[in-house]
Amino acid sequence: SSVLYVVATPLGNLADLSPRAQEVLRGAAWIAAEDTRHTQGLLTHFAISARLLAAHEHNERHAAEQIIDKLAAGDAVALVSDAGTPAVSDPGAKVVEAVRAAGFKVIPIPGPSAAVTALSAAGLTDARWLFVGFLPAKGGERRRELEALKPVPAALVFYEAPHRIVDMVADLAATLEPGRTLVIARELTKTFEQIHVGPLADGPAWLAADPNHQRGEFVVIVGSPPPAVEEGLPAEAERVLALLLGEGL
Ligand code: SAM
Repeated sequence: SSVLYVVATPLGNLADLSPRAQEVLRGAAWIAAEDTRHTQGLLTHFAISARLLAAHEHNERHAAEQIIDKLAAGDAVALVSDAGTPAVSDPGAKVVEAVRAAGFKVIPIPGPSAAVTALSAAGLTDARWLFVGFLPAKGGERRRELEALKPVPAALVFYEAPHRIVDMVADLAATLEPGRTLVIARELTKTFEQIHVGPLADGPAWLAADPNHQRGEFVVIVGSPPPAVEEGLPAEAERVLALLLGEGL
């Protein structure tokens, strides 16, 4: 009973709430939610009644104290965010850190996360990927961060909001190598789900081609950079050449 369950919830399609997640939410004395009204909708759909408390980014420390009090009283608590997995571009990490520090057990109940969902259907064969999440909202800062990410030898995974998707993809195309693969995954698990895959250079035109392409929630993935071309000769060849030249040959 004195366990904090960290429960992943659907990204849109409610059928994605796993049987195990349903069981845990049903059994919890308290559900700590990012937005209690939003979570109430999910609970109503599954006819689950539980007491809700708010645990969002502006009250996470206070929420952690409340949750620790419930656990100390012997109650099981479930932590959820609005969509997907808590602590992935969402509140939750501070609560988990505090609950662990207080000596209580934390059990994850895995389920959807938009990043992994998009990756699973993107068809990228890149061995590595880096979760970036949301880039800075301001263009200058965003482009500076992209310059820093450019040489990272991995696919880059971003989250973006609809009102910034056009500017963000324009910055990707202007900053990163145009031949890199671009994946725009929108409305995952929902009615208008769409996964576009093409060269990064064509991204802005794809978004402009149809206003619907700019609507909804987005995961954007850019494939790994092209392999670095060795500049000049390999180090060993340089050394031998220097020796030979030094000997006047
Ligand atoms: N915790 C969530 C997870 O595990 O994926 C992420 C929460 S973050 C605040 C919300 C962002 O996730 C959205 O702006 C969007 O970038 C992405 N996202 C969430 N649901 C999505 C969906 N159905 N389709 C595409 N992207 C989605």
